[in-house]
Amino acid sequence: MTSASTSAAPEPTGAGPADEDWLVTTSLAPHADGSLAPLYAGAARGELTLPFCGECGLAVELEQRACDSCGSTYIDWRAVERVGVVHAATLVHRREPGLIRATGPYPVLDVEVASGHRLVMTTVTASDAAPVIGQPVAIGFRTVGEVAVPAAHLGPFLPASSLPTSETEVST
Ligand SMILES: [Zn+2]
Repeated sequence: MTSASTSAAPEPTGAGPADEDWLVTTSLAPHADGSLAPLYAGAARGELTLPFCGECGLAVELEQRACDSCGSTYIDWRAVERVGVVHAATLVHRREPGLIRATGPYPVLDVEVASGHRLVMTTVTASDAAPVIGQPVAIGFRTVGEVAVPAAHLGPFLPASSLPTSETEVST
């Protein structure tokens, strides 16, 4: 018996080594000690940590240096509730062996976090479909190299109260 396997590339099945992300190779791991260090430090604890104006409390962008409202440059990073809704979504077709492990299209989402921030992310587990606009998502993490990065849980919506807390999540 022969199987039809003429040109099939090995596809990530999710059963690979625990330190391998489903989407990208470890060479694309972000620098956890850069300007987004508080985000990555929080993610390592299972927390979604995002920047706010330290004076007026406005949610600011990840790389923003001064508040749009009051002009303060004091940025306060705080853990927020890990829930949001899909603001925009697209399917990316990018075949780039050595950088992109997925061999098919993958979703990229612009998520409006309940805290007021907008974050661009993909999904925690492999997906070849984009969710609908407005779909609620819970925000978890992928691990690229040794760096945890925010990613969306699709499928049935999980209320934040059912998500593992940072205390219980470290044991996985
Ligand atoms: Zn402000």
